[in-house]
Amino acid sequence: MATSVKLYTGALMPIVGLGTWKSPPGKVTEAVKAAISVGYRHIDGAFLYQNEEEVGEGVQAMIKDGVVKREDLFIVSKLWSTYHEKSLVRKACEKTLSDLKLKYLDLYLVHSPVGFKAGSEIFPTDSAGEIIFDDTYFLDTWEGMEELVDAGLVKAIGISNFNKDQIEAILNKPGLKYKPANHQVECHPYLTQEKMINYCHSKGITVTAYSPLGSPDRPWAKEGEPSLLDNPEIEAIAKKHKKTTAQVLIRFHIQRNVVVIPKSITPQRIQENFQVFDFKLTDGEMKTIMGFNRNWRACDMRWCTKHKDFPFNTEF
Ligand code: NDP
Repeated sequence: MATSVKLYTGALMPIVGLGTWKSPPGKVTEAVKAAISVGYRHIDGAFLYQNEEEVGEGVQAMIKDGVVKREDLFIVSKLWSTYHEKSLVRKACEKTLSDLKLKYLDLYLVHSPVGFKAGSEIFPTDSAGEIIFDDTYFLDTWEGMEELVDAGLVKAIGISNFNKDQIEAILNKPGLKYKPANHQVECHPYLTQEKMINYCHSKGITVTAYSPLGSPDRPWAKEGEPSLLDNPEIEAIAKKHKKTTAQVLIRFHIQRNVVVIPKSITPQRIQENFQVFDFKLTDGEMKTIMGFNRNWRACDMRWCTKHKDFPFNTEF
């Protein structure tokens, strides 16, 4: 089984990467170092996570120690919603590069189709506590992204949290220079994303699954919400393979040719989450797991349902 997927640019994207959302700045440097030590070559980050300096410290330490070379790593970041104006895209990317202490990113994603008011606040709010939107159309943002490729700041560009109509709008954009190389979406057995994955793959767009373990540490988690890691049927499949539930949840994506980015700051789990290349789920097990779909989102972007470009109100 392949350990990477090929982007249309020809670049290989390692199929398992380390997620870094909610990884505290004081912990993430060690997490990145632990991950690279056990074989990860792909790190998923974002300006939003407010830890890119510390992610960069981990990456730089491993390069300095001779454990990896820059060109062997695949580093991903994301353009935050307050930088959707075309004229701000380069500034956002340069800030991320400077924090990461890198000259280029392997992949830069538009974090979501929804724009917020530009400025220093990550979530700009009005006096009623509502997010202040920006109505820059993401097709303009995309032109800014294309310029980053031409400037050599990023090797490839992509999107995250878009719906099919929005992807189609990019693909049909007059004068499109570069199509998205990757789409990062929430995906796990409770949100199997069959249609989205088939659609993207049919267009030559690779897919990355975020929140593959169901994001149990999401800040808005409530009691009684579905918990993938405690699903007894997935546990039973894991037992059969002498693997953990997390390993089955990760392996599920690999067998669909979908990139997967579990987050952990715990060295033992970071290692566990990478030990997923020495077993195979049967076709029957894959089918059983697919049957758990209930279109449940851990990250439903509830704070921007009123935005004109809110993505999750269509079939997919
Ligand atoms: P995950 O589904 O990866 O779950 C992370 C949680 O699972 C943490 O609490 C972690 O704990 C725990 N965990 C990790 N490994 C194990 C294990 N082997 N056994 C038991 N528990 C485990 O959640 P995320 O939402 O963080 O998603 C992963 C990544 O996807 C993000 O970090 C981010 O990089 C990306 N993402 C992108 C989004 C987007 O909009 N584009 C949105 C959401 C996520 P601990 O760390 O304490 O070990």
